[in-house]
Amino acid sequence: ANHLIDGLWAGFAGREPAVFAELGDGRHYTYADLNAVSARFAAGLIELGVRPGDRVAAQVEKSIEALMLYLGTVRAGGVFLPLNTAYTPAEIGYFVGDAEPRLLVCDPARAEALRPIAEGVGARVETLGGSKGGSVPEGSLLGLIPDEAEGFSNVPRGPDDLAAILYTSGTTGRSKGAMLSHDNLLSNAKVLAKTWRFTGDDVLIHALPIFHTHGLFVASNTVIATAGRLIWMEKFDVDAVVAALPRATAMMGVPTFYTRLLADPRLDRGLTRDMRLFISGSAPLLAETHRQWQERTGHAILERYGMTECSMNTSNPYDGERRAGTVGFPLEGVELRITEPETGRALQQGEIGMIEVRGPNIFKGYWRMPEKTAEELRADGWFITGDLGMIDDRGYVVIVGRGKDLIITGGFNVYPKEVEGEIDRIPGVVESAVIGVPHPDFGEGVVAVVVPETGAGLSEKDILGPLAERLAKFKQPKRVIFAEALPRNTMGKVQKKELRDQHAGTFG
Ligand code: ATP
Ligand code: MG
Repeated sequence: ANHLIDGLWAGFAGREPAVFAELGDGRHYTYADLNAVSARFAAGLIELGVRPGDRVAAQVEKSIEALMLYLGTVRAGGVFLPLNTAYTPAEIGYFVGDAEPRLLVCDPARAEALRPIAEGVGARVETLGGSKGGSVPEGSLLGLIPDEAEGFSNVPRGPDDLAAILYTSGTTGRSKGAMLSHDNLLSNAKVLAKTWRFTGDDVLIHALPIFHTHGLFVASNTVIATAGRLIWMEKFDVDAVVAALPRATAMMGVPTFYTRLLADPRLDRGLTRDMRLFISGSAPLLAETHRQWQERTGHAILERYGMTECSMNTSNPYDGERRAGTVGFPLEGVELRITEPETGRALQQGEIGMIEVRGPNIFKGYWRMPEKTAEELRADGWFITGDLGMIDDRGYVVIVGRGKDLIITGGFNVYPKEVEGEIDRIPGVVESAVIGVPHPDFGEGVVAVVVPETGAGLSEKDILGPLAERLAKFKQPKRVIFAEALPRNTMGKVQKKELRDQHAGTFG
C-alpha cells in the first residue's frame, strides 16, 4: 500500500474518464491521464535511482507535468521537495545542501548555474521548462520518462513515512524544511473536502503556485480526493480568471487575488453567479476586502488558516456566518489552544496568546534541525505556531499577528494589527504595516509604514491626528514613513523583517 496515493486515488475510482484538469488551448487531462502519467514519472524516477525516502527537489515553473512529478515522486516512494521559483541559485545552494536530494529538477535556463551546486552533494540534475497555455514543457526529464508504465505498482509507504519536505516561506527568518508524512497530507485533504463540500461536480480555478502548500496540497489534493476538475492556470491573471469564473464553482486564492479582482469593473454578481465558494488564506484578508467582495458579488469569502508545517488548521464554516477578520474554527480532528508565550499556560477565551495546534495534520519535525523541532513541537504533540491570536466570544479564532512581529515598547505590548486597522480607516490610506525598530529609550519604537492613495497628499499629521483619539499613547507610532507599496512575497505576505531592516536606523 502507498498511503497517500491509495487515499487520493480512492476519490476518483470509477471516474477515470472524468476531466481532472483543463490546461488551456482545449488540452485536457482526465483522471485516467493523471494515473497513467504519474505512473510513468514514478517509473522514470526509479529508473534514475530514486529509492524510498530519497528527496526529489524541483525548482520549476508551474505545469501539469510538474504536478505529475510530485505525484510520481510519491508513487515511487520518494519525498517531494518543491522550491520557490523566485529563489536564486545561491539560495538553492542552501536548500540543496540541506536536503541532499537524489535528483534536482530545474528550469533549462538554470541548469548550468545549478549543476555544480547539485553535483557537490551528489544530486543528479535534469530539466523541465515552463508551460505556456497548457503546452508540453521542454526539458531533459521528459526524455527519461518511459512512454508507458501500464503495470506500475506503487512503492509501499505507510502513514508515517515522509511524502514531502516543504520549506517555510522564510518570512520570519531562514526557511525551515517541514517534514510532512503521507497521513499529514491525506488526513488534511479529506477533512478539507468534507468541510468545504467538494464533490465531483466542482470546477476549481487553480491560479496558485505549486511550490507552496496552498496550491500544491490544499488545492490539488482536495480536488483529486473528490474527483473534481481544475481550471489550470500557469499564473494568476485577472483576464483569465474573469473568463473562467462563469464555468467554475470554486476558487482558492491569496488575498491579493481578491483585491486585484475587486479593482476590475467586470467583477459583479452576474460574473460569479454560478460560483459556490471563494476561499482565502496564506496571509490575512482585510475585513474591508471581505466586505467589498460581499457587496459586489453577494459571496462571503471563506477565510482559513494554515501553514507549511500543518497544512490547514482552521476554517470559517461552510454553513453559518463567515466572520470577517477571523479564521473560523479548528478543523475536525484538530485541537487548538491559546497559551501564555512565556510559560505555556493555557489562557481563557478572549485573552491574546500563542496559538498552538495538535492533530493528524501536524508535521514530523524540521528536517535536520532537532533543536528547532524541540523548541516548537512539544513532546505531547502540540505545535507552537508562532502566531498570536485569541478565541472570540463566539468561538472563532482571530489571528492578531506573528509573535516575532509583536512590538514591545517601554515594557508595553503593541499588536501591529490593531494599529494597522486604525490607520487603514483613515481616508486616503490604501494599507499600512506597523513595525518595531530599535529605540534608545523604549527598547523598540513603533513605526508605521503607510501606502497612500495616489494624489492623497497625506502628511504624518494626517495619520497621527486621528490615532491620538483612538489609541493609547504607547501604541501610537513615533514615526510615519510613506511608501509606494509594501514589500510582499509571491504568496502576498508582507515582509516585515525586510521593513525592520530597512528602517532599523530610524531612531538613531
Ligand atoms: P517562516 O515560517 O519561514 O517565517 P511563513 O510562516 O510565512 O514563513 P508559511 O508556512 O508559508 O511560512 O506561512 C504560514 C503563516 O502564514 C502562518 O503562520 C500565518 O502567520 C500566516 N497565515 C496563513 N493563513 C493566514 C490567515 N488566514 N490569516 C493570517 N495569517 C495567515
Ligand atoms: Mg512560519
